[in-house]
Amino acid sequence: MNLHEHQAKALFGQAGIPVPSGKVATTVDEAYASAQEIGLPVVIKAQVLTGGRGKAGGVKVAKTLEDVKTHAGNILGMSIKGLTVHKVLVDPASNIAQEIYLAVAMDRAAGRPVLISSSEGGVEIEQVAHDKPEAIIREHIDPLLGLHDYQTRSVASAINLPREHWRAFSEIALKLYQCYVENDAMLTEINPLVVTKEGVVMALDGKMVIDDNSLYRHKEIAAMRDLTAEDESETQARQAGIAYVKLNGQIGCMVNGAGLAMTTMDMVKLYGGEGIGPANFLDIGGGAQADKVVAALRIILSDENVKAVLINIFGGITRADEVARGMIQAYNEVKPTVPIVIRLVGTNAEEGRKIIEEANIPQLLTAATLTEAAQKAVEAAKGAK
Ligand code: GDP
Ligand code: MN
Repeated sequence: MNLHEHQAKALFGQAGIPVPSGKVATTVDEAYASAQEIGLPVVIKAQVLTGGRGKAGGVKVAKTLEDVKTHAGNILGMSIKGLTVHKVLVDPASNIAQEIYLAVAMDRAAGRPVLISSSEGGVEIEQVAHDKPEAIIREHIDPLLGLHDYQTRSVASAINLPREHWRAFSEIALKLYQCYVENDAMLTEINPLVVTKEGVVMALDGKMVIDDNSLYRHKEIAAMRDLTAEDESETQARQAGIAYVKLNGQIGCMVNGAGLAMTTMDMVKLYGGEGIGPANFLDIGGGAQADKVVAALRIILSDENVKAVLINIFGGITRADEVARGMIQAYNEVKPTVPIVIRLVGTNAEEGRKIIEEANIPQLLTAATLTEAAQKAVEAAKGAK
C-alpha cells in the first residue's frame, strides 16, 4: 500500500523527523484559507500516488494569495501520469540550499534493509542511478543490530555533506529507519531532504510503501487507504480476497496458487509469441467458492484488452466440481463475450469437466493439459483480433 506525501510526512513527523507543517485542501477556497493561516510564501503540491509531480507541473511555489488561487485551481483536477488530483498539500515554502536523497528500502538480494543516500536529491533516484551511479551510497542494516551512528556518519561523509549537518542528518536517518521498522514499511523515502539557507535539515517530500500483509496490525494506516487514488479493479480484487496484478496482454488468467499462476503466464507467453501475452496475474486462492470465481471473472473482464480467458485450476483443497459450478454461475451472471478455456485437474476433475461439457455453452472450452489450454487460448485471442 502506497501512502500519499502528506500521510508519509505525518508519520515522519510523529517519528521526530522535521517536516513542514502543512495542510491538505480539496478546493481552491480551502487552499486559500490554509495559505492565509500558514503565511506566505507557500508551496502547493498535488497529492497523487506517483513521483515526478514537480516535472508535471504539480508542485508550485505561491508568493501571493492570487498565486495560491491560480496554482491550486490549476493543480486540482489536473491529471498526472493518468491519476487525477483530488487533493493538494499546502506547505510553508522553504529556502533550499541543498537537496539530498535519503531512503530505507528492502534489499532482497542481500536479505536485509539498506540505507540509500545521494547528494543528487530532488531528481528521481532512477535517473541518478542511470546518469551518475557513483553518487548513490548504500549502507546495509543488520536487522538484529539495527542502524548505528557510525554508519549514518559514514554515509553523511560519503555524500560530502558539510560536517555541521552530520548530527541532524544522522538523527533523521535513524528516525527514518525506526519509522520503516515500526510501520512495517517496504520503503521510506525522503526526496528531497533539504538543507535550508537557515541551516535547518528537513524532509520536504515523503514516500512510504507499507507491506499489505502487515495492515492487520496497523489499523490507523489501513484506514489511510485512498480508494479514489487506486485502480478500481485492484480495489475490487483486494476486497474479494483475490491477488490481482493488471498487465498489458490479451489473455486473462484465473489460477489457484501463485506459482501455478506464474507458470500459466509463462505458457501463455511461450505459445503467444510476439504480440500475445497474459493480461494479468490472478491467484484466486485456496478453497475458491463460486462467488470468488464470479468476482475474479468480473475483474478480468473489466480489462478491455482481454480477448480470451484461460482458467487453470489444480484441485487440491479447491474441488474442481465446485469451480466448474462456479464457472457456470459466473458465466450466467457476467455473460462474457470472449471465449473461455478451462483446464481442471486434481480433486473431482472428472466431475468438473462433465459439468462444463453438459452445460453445453459454446464459449466454454475445456482442455486436458496446460499446453493444450494455452494453445487454445492463444488461438482464440488471435481469432478475436
Ligand atoms: P516530486 O516531483 O513528486 O518528487 O515532488 P517534490 O515534493 O519532491 O517536489 C519537487 C521539487 O519541488 C523539489 O525537488 C524542490 O526542488 C521543489 N520544492 C518543493 N518544495 C519546495 C519549497 O518549499 N521551496 C522551494 N523553493 N522549492 C520546493
Ligand atoms: Mn520528490
